Amino acid sequence: MSECIFCRIAAGRAPARLVWQDDEAVAFHDLHPQAPVHLLVIPRRHLVSVNAAAPADRDLLGHLLLVAAQVARSAGLEARGYRIVTNCGADAGQSVFHLHLHVLGGRPMGWPPG
Ligand code: 5GP
Ligand code: ZN
Repeated sequence: MSECIFCRIAAGRAPARLVWQDDEAVAFHDLHPQAPVHLLVIPRRHLVSVNAAAPADRDLLGHLLLVAAQVARSAGLEARGYRIVTNCGADAGQSVFHLHLHVLGGRPMGWPPG
């Protein structure tokens, strides 16, 4: 079975425009950006979604949010604001089944999302 694409990116076995790397997380530009800035923040460890997270993942989940805020600031999004989204399962339209936070900014966002 082929390895998950985000596991491959985290391991450096698939190309991505990285903006952050640490022991637990990686962030990179989305291949098909939906806003002027569209970054993805992922854990290095494969986790399908927040639905698959356990209490033991609490620190990791918090870390991902802090990395999302850091890369948003680095991308210049702090003043105008930005959105952090994680799609979970079919109704949300999740298409890559390795947990990721979308960081979207650089334009006004509608609400509610479609
Ligand atoms: P989802 O629909 O699961 O919430 O989001 C998956 C996101 O991953 C999409 O925005 C899609 O454009 C992005 N994506 C899928 N494959 C790749 C890839 O190989 N490289 C990068 N950088 N982004 C990807
Ligand atoms: Zn994976």
